[in-house]
Amino acid sequence: MIKNNKSKFNFEKSILKWFEKNQQNYPWRSLWLTHKDPYHVWVSEIMLQQTTIKAVLPKYEKFIKRFPKLKNLAASSEDELKKYVSGLGYYRRFDNLLKTAKMIYSEYHQNWPKSYTSLMKLPGIGDYTASAVSSIAFQEAKAAIDGNVERVLARFLGLNLNLGSKELKKEVKTASQSFISEVNPGAYNQGLMELGQIICRPQNPLCKMCPLKKHCYAKLSSQQENFPLPKQNVRKSEDLDINLFIIKFNNKILLQKRPQKSKILANKMGFLTTYKEEGKRSCEELESKLIKFNKPKKIGNFNHSITHYKIRANVFLTSLSPHATINNSVLLKTKDVPNSLIASLDHKAWNILKEKSEQKTYK
Ligand code: SF4
Repeated sequence: MIKNNKSKFNFEKSILKWFEKNQQNYPWRSLWLTHKDPYHVWVSEIMLQQTTIKAVLPKYEKFIKRFPKLKNLAASSEDELKKYVSGLGYYRRFDNLLKTAKMIYSEYHQNWPKSYTSLMKLPGIGDYTASAVSSIAFQEAKAAIDGNVERVLARFLGLNLNLGSKELKKEVKTASQSFISEVNPGAYNQGLMELGQIICRPQNPLCKMCPLKKHCYAKLSSQQENFPLPKQNVRKSEDLDINLFIIKFNNKILLQKRPQKSKILANKMGFLTTYKEEGKRSCEELESKLIKFNKPKKIGNFNHSITHYKIRANVFLTSLSPHATINNSVLLKTKDVPNSLIASLDHKAWNILKEKSEQKTYK
């Protein structure tokens, strides 16, 4: 399967040399150089899962300002944490971030587990994160494989395998694990990922600037865009129609924790959400939730994507009748609402209300 074995000898060296000259100055790198605290590395790796560097950068800086050390995060709560990660998506990772911080603080007495194997036992830490943290913070020679590394090595080695497939991951992991050594495993992993981001891009790779160009199978055979093969059996997004209800009560706004079994944003605080059933009017859906309310007015709609759903959301404004009670809910002053919303979906609904209020349609 591997078509290029000759340059194995120089691979690690080439990556380290390239990274030394070209590495980006991200805040987690400066923090690591200054403090040598695995906490800063771990937070960045969790934030970067499925999220672009551009989206993470401003959030990371605010996060570290508020939670500079593990003990600050461990003393925090879900509600406090969500203010600093709202908009990043995939929120279960942050529930695990908090669980792990509390665990390392109290059960491990702030002593970080130092090996790949022990890191893997922590909530929310899988093969990629354990490899990245153990190599960067503890110099363990463990190859970290993300989508960028898969692309670089599929091209370099000429692997005819589908992107995202178990087979490609396995081949790439084996190859990268054979290249990495204890010389500087953290720089090797970061360098290979960064080479994929900046140089070996999905389209139009910048081969002229690549340190691997003389030995790269795809480059030498002019087949850069044929490797890796495209993703197969990608799960199609499902259409989902929802109603979001912004509910006013005594000049306050009601937010509800979505149920554990919610199709979207389970356990996350947001506007009361119903899933539109055919033939049902929005007020019937609210009635079916046993909520006493005044007739909702539709104030807008928007499209949004979350994981496997393409969402069409209608936004309604309504108010509760006095003495109504709603489970798992809080009433907040209007000024506190934006900071209490974690998901972009709820922020979009809130912005619709804000725009309407500015137009003085609703007060
Ligand atoms: S030579 Fe081109 S295709 Fe090969 S690894 Fe470098 S950028 Fe990617």
